[in-house]
Amino acid sequence: MSNIYNYKLTDLEQYFENINEKKYKAKQIYDWLYIKRINDFNKMTNLKKDLINKLNNDFSNDFIKIIKKQESKLTNKYLFSLLDGNYIEAVLMRHDYGISVCISSQVGCNMGCLFCESGRLKKVRNLETYEMIEQILLIESDIKERISSVVIMGIGEPFDNYDNVINFVKIINSPYGINIGQRHITISTCGIIPKIDKFSEEDMQVNLAISLHAPNNEIRNKIMNVNKVYNIEELIACLKRYIAKTNRRVTIEYVMLNNVNDSYDNAVELSKLIKGMNVYVNLIPYNETSHIEFKKSDKIMEFYDVLKKNKINVTIRKEFGGNIDAACGQLRAKEVEK
Ligand code: SAH
Repeated sequence: MSNIYNYKLTDLEQYFENINEKKYKAKQIYDWLYIKRINDFNKMTNLKKDLINKLNNDFSNDFIKIIKKQESKLTNKYLFSLLDGNYIEAVLMRHDYGISVCISSQVGCNMGCLFCESGRLKKVRNLETYEMIEQILLIESDIKERISSVVIMGIGEPFDNYDNVINFVKIINSPYGINIGQRHITISTCGIIPKIDKFSEEDMQVNLAISLHAPNNEIRNKIMNVNKVYNIEELIACLKRYIAKTNRRVTIEYVMLNNVNDSYDNAVELSKLIKGMNVYVNLIPYNETSHIEFKKSDKIMEFYDVLKKNKINVTIRKEFGGNIDAACGQLRAKEVEK
């Protein structure tokens, strides 16, 4: 039995057509689920008893649970338990432009980035769409406020769970549902080229962020296993295709690791690599974790200046949540290793 939060509006419409019901019923269901926030079919008072029985038979509406919350002034970190007992996490951040939430897309991750806490624990499984939707719904009901943007940058590699992630994006984007604009949604990938190409065909305004983290193969091979499959030249060529096809600017994420990828020469090399491309670079101060020996760079400003001087669009990511284990995967790792 599939969870009702796995269903795009068009899929629900199809369901109602298949059972010889009017398809506008799908919008009524969406109204209960996403506007009134009622998931109990028995409480959907504009539906006939027979239909309610049918819905109870055909769909589950179970929720994942918040089992831990760590709060600081601008950040909340949530640990969720899934129905099968697995753990995932999400982070809420308050900005001057609104509230963003960073959600997980898998239980664990197989991409094997050496600096990343999430990947220390291998992938157990993909998240289903409803498990991503419910992260958003539970956080909104916890804070009693609306979320204005969503980044798929928590535990997992979204393009290793492509179909469920795209389905999730379509559901939260629906004007009959949570209604988060595509331009307020960002998918971050470590660079799975065939899926970036596929994504460029989706005709979506969703933002794409690429975890580049190195200016050449030598460094990238040392810190990101994915580079041994999809190397930097192929990735850059892929991004050029993506930009040409979608006309959208791509975010390049670059985590600043002390004495690994943060030298003056690295900054010059990175500038040359992406010169003339419609990208902007987001320098990420490394969030140190106790299990991993990488340290936060002390040369972020110098690196930033070199990029600026080379006319590269660049920003430094604001640091959130260092004091509440906000490096993604930290809360889950603590819980699993208990
Ligand atoms: N798998 C996807 C999305 C999840 S990781 C991806 O690779 O993009 C989200 C981002 O956080 C990536 O850029 C990742 O490299 C970065 N990251 C992982 N661990 C980090 C840490 N401890 N400090 C700062 N950034 C980190």
